[in-house]
Amino acid sequence: MQTIEKYNFSGKKALIRVDFNVPLDENFNITDDTRMTAALPTIRQVIDNGGSAIIMSHLGRPKKGPEDKFSMKHLVPHLSTLLGGIEIKVAPDCVGAATKNIADSLKPGEVLVLENLRFHPEEEGGDAAFAKELAANGDCWINDAFGTAHRAHASTAVIAQYFPNDKLFGYLVDSEVKSLDKVLKAPKRPFTAIMGGSKVSSKITIIENLLNSVDNLIIGGGMTYTFMKAQGGKIGRSLCEDEYLGLALEILDKAEKKGVKIILAVDTVEADDFSETANSRVVPSKNISDGWEGLDVGPETIAIFKKVISESNTILWNGPVGVFEMDKFATGTRAIGDAIVEATSKGAFSLVGGGDSVAAVNKFGIADQVSYISTAGGAMLEYLEGKVLPGIAAVLD
Ligand code: AMP
Repeated sequence: MQTIEKYNFSGKKALIRVDFNVPLDENFNITDDTRMTAALPTIRQVIDNGGSAIIMSHLGRPKKGPEDKFSMKHLVPHLSTLLGGIEIKVAPDCVGAATKNIADSLKPGEVLVLENLRFHPEEEGGDAAFAKELAANGDCWINDAFGTAHRAHASTAVIAQYFPNDKLFGYLVDSEVKSLDKVLKAPKRPFTAIMGGSKVSSKITIIENLLNSVDNLIIGGGMTYTFMKAQGGKIGRSLCEDEYLGLALEILDKAEKKGVKIILAVDTVEADDFSETANSRVVPSKNISDGWEGLDVGPETIAIFKKVISESNTILWNGPVGVFEMDKFATGTRAIGDAIVEATSKGAFSLVGGGDSVAAVNKFGIADQVSYISTAGGAMLEYLEGKVLPGIAAVLD
């Protein structure tokens, strides 16, 4: 397989699939440009080495063809700034003769932004003819959109067949895959995963897959109470998925057979309302008061979680262990973050991923103190579930 470092971009037009699906305010100001800055190293590698870059992405969820509010043109001024003020060309579409003419006339070092891929339903439909038309704009294809790597769309996977010898991973996809593989395929032990969040149902496949590789599995957040109830506990009004009670017991059983230690909360901060001003107190996790609900882990649990994390050499964190959006119930999640930072400073490899844990890490200001943050929610979760991602497979095949 070709790598982006070694590939000769001289005189080539590189079609780069990026994930520039950034949030915009009502005046089309970009409110978070993380996804754009993440793709800069790849764009730079192309234009600094004699190639021209053709940027393609989706933006938002256009439903009925072209819509001004979802036009890629809104991103162009900021992209130009990020690239040091260079002039950026804008295509009227992502396919068609007018677009191809502009692409054909690109000179080394120039950058062209194609119009929103999802203005054509063929993009999400994975249409081969559409992918072929897109491919006609460039000489090589770089997939640097990890956020859409779990989709078999025209620009993220199907297009690969038109570049059998000229398909590459961009730096972002490459580092995401390497970091996830470091955790999933060759973890330094002990390996601890911390799974939080609200529901068992959305994490069950990941938990089952992780049982094959982790030494310790910390389960926190709203999921806790499905496990507590399954074990005969009293959970008051806490979150619970009754249809998963059997599965919760099966997981505990499977973990025991595989020698994986599952660590659940022993004490809980219960509240009489889902609000910052609620009354709260610490109780055993299996004895929540009637009419109250568990919204954070208690101090004894924090101490247990911290000890396990401090003794780990590989740590994967997905999901908060309490309702961290409210300061009153953020203590447990903050403690997990602090423990991960401490373990990382002593040499552990820590990977934080999934929307809410990334938000938590940002809220606590510790984003630069963990080893790697994966910002690609859906794609990362599917990778953790053990699925083959079409956008990755297309490059490797
Ligand atoms: P998820 O999207 O499944 O990862 O869940 C993240 C959400 O779970 C966050 O918004 C947290 O506030 C919420 N959460 C964490 N712990 C609890 C809990 N004990 N009760 C209710 N919600 C929780």
